[in-house]
Amino acid sequence: MELIKAYSIPIKAPKDLMEEFFKLRKTVLDEVFKHIKYSKSGKAHLKFNKNDRKELRDKLLRNWRFAKHYVDSAINSVIGLVKGWIQLYNRGKAKSKPEITKKTVYVKTTLFTVRNGKIKITIEPKKRYLEVDLAKFNYLPKDYDSIGGLILQKDKLIITFKKRVELVEPKDYASFDVNLTNVTGLINYRIVRFDLRELYHIHRVYEEKRKRIQKLAKTKPKTAKKLMQKYSKRERNRVRDIMHKITTTIARELVSIKHGAILEDLKNIKDGILNGSKNLNRKLSKWNCRMFQSMLEYKLMWFGLPVKYVNPANSSKTCPVCSGRLSAYRDRLMKCDRCGLVQDRDVIAVLNLRMWGLGGYPEGGRALQG
Ligand SMILES: [Zn+2]
Repeated sequence: MELIKAYSIPIKAPKDLMEEFFKLRKTVLDEVFKHIKYSKSGKAHLKFNKNDRKELRDKLLRNWRFAKHYVDSAINSVIGLVKGWIQLYNRGKAKSKPEITKKTVYVKTTLFTVRNGKIKITIEPKKRYLEVDLAKFNYLPKDYDSIGGLILQKDKLIITFKKRVELVEPKDYASFDVNLTNVTGLINYRIVRFDLRELYHIHRVYEEKRKRIQKLAKTKPKTAKKLMQKYSKRERNRVRDIMHKITTTIARELVSIKHGAILEDLKNIKDGILNGSKNLNRKLSKWNCRMFQSMLEYKLMWFGLPVKYVNPANSSKTCPVCSGRLSAYRDRLMKCDRCGLVQDRDVIAVLNLRMWGLGGYPEGGRALQG
């Protein structure tokens, strides 16, 4: 299977190209939109054949000093945009014409070369190039097969790295449990923990900010909307940074010992009836969990290591030794009514998840005994 990873690096994009490409796409949109026909029932469809395309291309190239491929790229991206719009329109979900709002340039693989870890993008053929030395950015992957298309924005370049991956048979599996305040893992019979309290704190801080902005929404709705987007983005980025660090650490260890991972299948978590603050905590906990899982899964897959999902129902209420029912003891500890085992609830959860993931009894979600 082929995997793709996208990374962005800071860069100063050529202003003239950015502006001209933006205008070009607007022109293409106007032209392509003329080729939309409407049937009697009011359904839209695009009639834009090879000839139409050639005509448009030739016309646009007359006063285009940058590489020709940018024109093709603009036509392709706009056709994609229009097709997406038609689908929405025919389902009654699109109002007016689609719009081009972002100043981004799609750099096709024909517009750049990669040599010795350096990307060389043609701006004007045989005259002007934009060169990027990937070695300057140590967070970029080094074990890729090829680089796919690039996206150029005002101050950054988004690069997609491609790698063909063969699935590896793991030597064993580690298991992980994620909740509001920590990630607990069982790796090679060793318990590891990562504190998520900072994450929880960030969520609370931004929750307060959002509440304040909501009050502002009555008098200044536009400012409020902008602020809300800004803060949401910041919150997401801070949370992502923390989670990236944790999952990278874990993935490195698992790759070094060739272990796969067993994770909780979130589809099986029922929200139930919860009150206000508990509900928010549940939501945050799920958010953390989802982010953790998708990041870890991707980082393991990059090395061909598999991930298994297990129904986590009762995973912290079932005794991993005798399958008896556990009840809350004190703090985060649980006690088995049957065999007397006392253990931390997160440790119990990862022990059970691993056992269930490997097919051991009892299976996840099964009724408790005793
Ligand atoms: Zn027991």
